[in-house]
Amino acid sequence: MLSLRKTKEEQEVTEKKVVEVLLSVPESGALVHVPTVCTGCGICELMCSLYHEGVQAPALARLQVVNDPFTSDQARVRMQTSGWKEGKRVAFECDLCRGRKAGPICVEYCPPHALGFKKAKMGGAVRK
Ligand code: SF4
Ligand code: SF4
Repeated sequence: MLSLRKTKEEQEVTEKKVVEVLLSVPESGALVHVPTVCTGCGICELMCSLYHEGVQAPALARLQVVNDPFTSDQARVRMQTSGWKEGKRVAFECDLCRGRKAGPICVEYCPPHALGFKKAKMGGAVRK
């Protein structure tokens, strides 16, 4: 007789897949940067790449501090979607440090607290 019931093993595989999918959904919210407070130190870049790639390398950080005295007297932060790893271009994306209990590591280690994390309200992501 044909059984439509899943075996215990099949059920476990399905549950594992559901957990993987849930963990891959990015945290809803946005980073908030206050240029008037930012010193342009770049620690946020170092902490981001250290946490995600295991090395302190701004080229592998999901955010980039732009500190160009010719265009502005205030440092800005912009998001990066790719970087350089072992001579190759790699794609990545800020996931707001999903799964990290203390929240985004760049926010935690910003010395003057120029970075913040704004959680999205129910029903929509915050865009900035
Ligand atoms: S760590 Fe904070 S102060 Fe330093 S560059 Fe990043 S946002 Fe600016
Ligand atoms: S929130 Fe996390 S992934 Fe996004 S830029 Fe900050 S440290 Fe990097």
